[in-house]
Amino acid sequence: MRLLGDDALETANARLGTRFWIFPQPPFIPGYEQPDRVWLSIPRDEIGEGPSDPTMYVVDPLLDKHPYASNQLPPFDGARRPPPSPGPDRHFDNMRPDSRAFLGVHAYACVHFVLDIWQSYLGHPIRWFFSQTFPRLEIVAFVNWDNAQAGYGFLELGCSDIDGIRRPYALNFDAIAHEVGHLILLSETGIPTAPTQGDDFFPFSEAFSDAVSLISFLHFDSAIDRLLRRTRGNLLLYNELNRFAETSPETQIRLATNFRRVSETTQNVHDRALPFVGAIFDTIVELYHRELVARGCADIRLVDFDIRDLARDDFDRFRQMTEDAFQIKPMIFRLALTAARDAVGQAIAVALRSLDPNMLRLDQAAYAVIAAAQGPAAGLLESNFAWREIINRR
Ligand SMILES: [Zn+2]
Repeated sequence: MRLLGDDALETANARLGTRFWIFPQPPFIPGYEQPDRVWLSIPRDEIGEGPSDPTMYVVDPLLDKHPYASNQLPPFDGARRPPPSPGPDRHFDNMRPDSRAFLGVHAYACVHFVLDIWQSYLGHPIRWFFSQTFPRLEIVAFVNWDNAQAGYGFLELGCSDIDGIRRPYALNFDAIAHEVGHLILLSETGIPTAPTQGDDFFPFSEAFSDAVSLISFLHFDSAIDRLLRRTRGNLLLYNELNRFAETSPETQIRLATNFRRVSETTQNVHDRALPFVGAIFDTIVELYHRELVARGCADIRLVDFDIRDLARDDFDRFRQMTEDAFQIKPMIFRLALTAARDAVGQAIAVALRSLDPNMLRLDQAAYAVIAAAQGPAAGLLESNFAWREIINRR
């Protein structure tokens, strides 16, 4: 028998990826005070201090920096704080989560975590829409500004200020994932060059980015675990899923479990995005229910019901049955939720390739998502988009 030499083992280990800490929800949310240790697919020898790599780099300004604007773009050329280095094992899970250096490391990890997920759904690497001008995305770890924004070549993160308590967006996975959603969309469809009247590109961009945030959040094992334990397998209850944009950088609280239909929205882009996000969320929950029913973990009548029409008695009865099953078979619930998540995530990602950023309408986007869906997801998406008045009922 021949054992692997240390060098060979070390080379193999380096290819496993790189360890980081991520808070799946901001650490001030009860139950999420501790970060998760995650493995990003990028090999250790491809990440330099900062962190930085061939696709992105972090800067942390020493002094207050003005947010980027149309006449001011990267690269940042002011004085910077010293770039954080990995530990002796070259992983980045070596620093204290309450240190300043951690902000940029965390933001970098969140961006890669989201890209790993959506590249898997898309089936190809995401090429930045600004790559002809800037080969790499610049992540600004902290800007003294109550907002976060992604733009041409950059992602910059300010801090929310609620009642005098300042919370950096660099620690807010939801906010970062949402902004990365904007970057992914523009990178896949291209930039709209001739926006026209009645064009829905921007509402769709908000809806897509919220879906990216929601679905990416569901990729944390610990988050799924906590979510299912807390709701005892019943996603109809108020839970982490529907406050994924709680401290949204755009200040508007967007709820994935809203009941808004198109006729109830205004022309505001965030408002117009709500029915689309709602349809996505409802489809994930319904697919999850179907999977539970198929595995004997929920009442079969749940599949025939519109959950929005459930009477209180029915609701309580269904909830009890689900709770009882969850006690015995929690692993089945995890499988059901991840299957539902991926069926919807995949459909949204695949739909992007058929979207024209000019003259995009929400109904066209909805039909593209339905056409890209496989199995029962297609029918559920269709009925949910119809209920939301995004498409016509057939
Ligand atoms: Zn947005």
